[in-house]
Amino acid sequence: MGAPWQILGKRLVDMSKCSFCSTQIEKATGKMFVENTGKIQWFCSSKCEKNLRKLGRDPRKFKWTKEKS
Ligand SMILES: [Zn+2]
Repeated sequence: MGAPWQILGKRLVDMSKCSFCSTQIEKATGKMFVENTGKIQWFCSSKCEKNLRKLGRDPRKFKWTKEKS
C-alpha cells in the first residue's frame, strides 16, 4: 500500500481531455494524434477524431456530450 512504484504506476494512467468533446479519457485507452506542428491531440473515440480532423468541425458548435440547448 502506497509503495513508490505503485504511485508511479498511477501516474502512467494519467487522464487527458478529448480535443473535441472535452470528455475525460484515459491516455491508455484514448487515441492520440500528433499534428505536423507537434501539437498533440487526444480523442475519446473515432467519432470525435473524424469530426475534428476530417470534417473540421468546431467543437464549440457541437456540444452533444456536454450541453443541450
Ligand atoms: Zn470526444
